Amino acid sequence: MRAPVSAYIGLGANLGDARSTVLQALKAIADLDGLVLTGQSSLYGSAPIDAGGDDYVNAVAEVQTRLSPHALLEQLQSIENAAGRARPYRNAPRTLDLDILLYDQLVLNDDDLVIPHPRMRQRAFVLRPLAEIAPALVERAHLQSVADQAVWVL
Ligand code: AMP
Repeated sequence: MRAPVSAYIGLGANLGDARSTVLQALKAIADLDGLVLTGQSSLYGSAPIDAGGDDYVNAVAEVQTRLSPHALLEQLQSIENAAGRARPYRNAPRTLDLDILLYDQLVLNDDDLVIPHPRMRQRAFVLRPLAEIAPALVERAHLQSVADQAVWVL
């Protein structure tokens, strides 16, 4: 069996009761087989980037996992889909977005999985919560370069 490694998961929601969606998703992640939830950031609010709609609720979770990167993605997608079943109408926007931000030291460029997450370093709603729970993983210069993005602790 694989030795456990640290991975970081970004959570975001902006439909319905986004705060409770994110809190439930953290519980669902903690309940997955093959990982232990070892840290979670505060909940953050953020203004949508390149999109209209409500403000987002964001957080970052730290896990120790024996799941492969693809197995972890599959589990996270099943949590997204379960949250999506609460959609009020067909093809409504997704209520929950879960991204693998980092997986140990892995650099992966598969068609369906890119790690580190390609846009994480441009997004304050990822870097701020990540810096809260794993400051050594976030460069000051990256944080400074997103300082103009509105992100607040809820
Ligand atoms: P999005 O709608 O932005 O959440 O994108 C979902 C798609 O991104 C999925 O089909 C994944 O296969 C793909 N993807 C690529 N890299 C990642 C990653 N690091 N974490 C989560 N999804 C990823």
